[in-house]
Amino acid sequence: MSDDRYSRQSLYQPIGINGQEKIKNKHVLLIGCGALGTANAESLVRAGIGKLTIVDRDYVEASNLQRQQLFTEQDYLEQLPKAIAAKERLQQINSSVSISAYVMDGNSRNLASLVKEADLVLDATDNFDIRFITNDLIHQYEVPWIFGSCVGSTGMSYTILPGETPCLQCILEATPVSGATCDAVGIIAPAVQMVVAHQQAEALKILVEAVDAVRTKLVTFDLWHNQYQTIDMKRAKKDTCPTCGANPSYPNLSYEAQTKLEVLCGRNTVQIRSNRMVHLVELAERLRTIGTVKQNEFLLSLDYQPYRVVIFRDGRVLIHGTDSAEKAKAVYYQLVG
Ligand SMILES: [Zn+2]
Repeated sequence: MSDDRYSRQSLYQPIGINGQEKIKNKHVLLIGCGALGTANAESLVRAGIGKLTIVDRDYVEASNLQRQQLFTEQDYLEQLPKAIAAKERLQQINSSVSISAYVMDGNSRNLASLVKEADLVLDATDNFDIRFITNDLIHQYEVPWIFGSCVGSTGMSYTILPGETPCLQCILEATPVSGATCDAVGIIAPAVQMVVAHQQAEALKILVEAVDAVRTKLVTFDLWHNQYQTIDMKRAKKDTCPTCGANPSYPNLSYEAQTKLEVLCGRNTVQIRSNRMVHLVELAERLRTIGTVKQNEFLLSLDYQPYRVVIFRDGRVLIHGTDSAEKAKAVYYQLVG
């Protein structure tokens, strides 16, 4: 590839040739590969990041295509896992980046080894369970983390530097966020792009080690109602915090803290986690007798009226069409046993 590839970025004086070299030697862990994740990933890959690790638990659905910028109609038709579809597209954009894609639900065990190896972690999840696990892990392993969230026309971002800034737990106690989700109130794409712009500017600063340039304030905005705000969070840090305080206990890393059965808020879907690996070909054969099965090498989906059931290779199951944990469990036992 031409030497000219990163010329406009390295021409920018605060980055320079040295900064570009640093970016090439860094490893970013991206947790979540939906709207925030695809935009963050594309930006990092175009910027010439050396290594990118992507973790995501979902597959591409029609409602993703409005804003999840790496995905195509074909990815949706093939029901590709998001991490896999994203990796494929990202390698077309920049073949020199080393990309690892994990189709899995992040938990304290499988994320620990990934966080440990990363120079920077980017938040692109849609739920606070994983965010709180990440919050503990990045403090345990002292890796910077850039929080981002958006819903409707609003968004928020904050850069967490372990040992310096308050952690996510401290911030949320000081600034409660609404429980609204994109699945319940919708989202417009520019809100995603705005959060990503803030996350990516911070990422570049951290990757080139321009620590003095890092934004120390929480930024929030509402693009529809033309409101922009930055909030100083220094005072939010609590010495008694179990994550960033003087005697951390990392409460979100205990196995018990993690639910096995989870009603996905606003999605009319229940997720069930199990540790059993599934043989998709055998299972598909059995399930074909009771409904229409679609399958690829990562997952299978079954139309089982009034439900749609998606079973991943790692044993995780999504039951669409109910928000009752009890009903979902009954369907699970009927189908998977
Ligand atoms: Zn804290």
